[in-house]
Amino acid sequence: MGAQRRFRVWGAGLLAAGLVVAFSLRSPAVDGGIPSRPHPLPPTLEQWGDPTAGDYFDEIEVPPFGYLIWSRWPVRVYVERREDDPSQNWRETVLAAVMEWDAYVPLEITGDRDRADIRIFRRRPPLKPGHLRARSGETRYRLLTRTTETGSRLLTHQFTILLSPTQTGPYVASVARHEFGHALGIWGHSPEETDVMYFAQVREPPPISPRDVNTLRRIYQQPTQLGWPLASADGPPSESGSALGDATSMNFDRRRTPKVYKIDR
Ligand SMILES: [Zn+2]
Repeated sequence: MGAQRRFRVWGAGLLAAGLVVAFSLRSPAVDGGIPSRPHPLPPTLEQWGDPTAGDYFDEIEVPPFGYLIWSRWPVRVYVERREDDPSQNWRETVLAAVMEWDAYVPLEITGDRDRADIRIFRRRPPLKPGHLRARSGETRYRLLTRTTETGSRLLTHQFTILLSPTQTGPYVASVARHEFGHALGIWGHSPEETDVMYFAQVREPPPISPRDVNTLRRIYQQPTQLGWPLASADGPPSESGSALGDATSMNFDRRRTPKVYKIDR
């Protein structure tokens, strides 16, 4: 809180609204007819409780199809392996920061970036027109459909996180920890700098706070259309034209990517 504490805004410009809608194409998949219901909480979140800490749930944006909730465990995470990072220091740092969230939402690291739910790359986020300021990270998602083993189609999503190579020292972990919070569904920012999801980067990055977890828990108690069948709104499953996937029965149908949303920066 001290006046000497410098901080940088996480991204270009002020993030009062918190969100930037990048593209807004029509979305044939998100229609009426898909139920909007809560999913069971992950057991780790179910058991969590710190009612005295409060939360910042009111700051969370709600997309038209409901909250950005994962309902299939573990959530699969891909972290890029870079040739220019021979000792894999960057990757190890990012993995460690990401796995701090595993205490609340079950995670699994995968080498298959196409089938990952959340994909993390060491790349400079694209500059926005009119904003020349470099950004530390960016998180975006798109909507997909997934065909299950039984042939039903679910509305689902996939996140991509870009972490800027310009970040060094403790900021590598702090940006990764923050962006990953967005990808778990915290689509907004905290007004308090003791939270990971504070809207600005602080000199001494905090760990995941009880307020962060309380907020995450409340989000996961909310209804969403993600993870529920869309057959009634989107035709029979055979229309996907996609074969069954591997043992994990994943099958992203990329032709139906209707929207991309970004946060941060
Ligand atoms: Zn953010």
